Amino acid sequence: MVRRTEFVPYRPKTILNKGKRADHWFWSRYSAYPYKGCMHGCEFCYCREEKYYPYDDPRDFAYRILVKENAPELLRRALSRLPVDLVMTGDYQPAEHKFELSRKMLEVCLEMGFPVSVLERSPLVLRDLALLKEINHQAPSVVFFSLISAPDSPSYERVRQMEALAPRMEKRYAAMEQIAEAGILTGASMMPILPGLCDTDENLEATVRWTAEHGGKFVIAAGLTLADQQRDYFFRVLRERFPDLVPLYERLYPTGSYGAVRSGDPHAIARCIRELCRQYGISDRMPRPIIPGDKRALNKRVVEALANQVYSMELENASSQRIWAYRKAAWAIEDTPQDLGLIYRAMGRKGLESIENVGQEMAQVVEDLLSRVPILRQAQEPVSSEWWPP
Ligand code: SF4
Repeated sequence: MVRRTEFVPYRPKTILNKGKRADHWFWSRYSAYPYKGCMHGCEFCYCREEKYYPYDDPRDFAYRILVKENAPELLRRALSRLPVDLVMTGDYQPAEHKFELSRKMLEVCLEMGFPVSVLERSPLVLRDLALLKEINHQAPSVVFFSLISAPDSPSYERVRQMEALAPRMEKRYAAMEQIAEAGILTGASMMPILPGLCDTDENLEATVRWTAEHGGKFVIAAGLTLADQQRDYFFRVLRERFPDLVPLYERLYPTGSYGAVRSGDPHAIARCIRELCRQYGISDRMPRPIIPGDKRALNKRVVEALANQVYSMELENASSQRIWAYRKAAWAIEDTPQDLGLIYRAMGRKGLESIENVGQEMAQVVEDLLSRVPILRQAQEPVSSEWWPP
């Protein structure tokens, strides 16, 4: 029997999640969403975890949608008190046809000059393409797609069974092409890479190739996590529909684990994706959207370079001490209110060393990065991402 969807309007008191600083995967500092529950109902969705989902029964997740009817007003009020930075927003599940709250929230971002980051499993996002173009024109933004396979991958139809209520991936790749043609940064979020379904060489290659062929500039990837009621739900799905995979998942996700527990090299898949991205001329990291003329553009670009270096070191299994030094320096520079270029022009390397948590060794790394940026030669020129090495 087909289950009907129930919509439950309510008026929350707040809507915006605010990070202390931008995160190093998606570069967003803020996030705000209009619905709880998702009609796409992907079987692996982490939003079924108790901490994200307010119902006892995770089977309700795709069929009982909480609608934050005051979402645009809440967003306007929250953003009016905050410095401009990237807002993750937009939820184009079928509920959006009826309520249009994602659209209204984008209108608020446009009105207030905030750039947006929209991650989608639906081509319905194209309904608001004109609006997204306006936002992107004012403040560089990103619209990208959840894609964990591609139509010519041998495992495509099995992967589809894990997200059967979502629009087919062909439509998402076609939408990506339109977003790229509109001049908006786009790419794929290959999350989660489901063991035994998405982690084959053929599936990884097909996903990266389809992304590159449809105008995507990046594929960022991460593994599956399982916790509490979401874990029970997922194992129930496996037993009913993918019994052949149960032994593999029981081995990789023993009781009490969150991410996969692998005995071999934990970064082998990420390195394979990196190599594939190089082959197809795209990146395995999302380029950081930065507003031209942003007074802290240079700081942000340096943080991006340091974070990319952290990721490379993780893939190379570098020492945790070294990784920590880069990560701390990235956070310190993100938190520095003054323009790094001004500090360096006024005080040279000593100025960089004086930033808390940077220190002598990292000051040299930062100086080396700065030497590649024309802003130091042409003081007021805005920083362009094209100058920055990938
Ligand atoms: S589209 Fe995203 S939020 Fe919705 S069910 Fe799938 S993974 Fe979860």
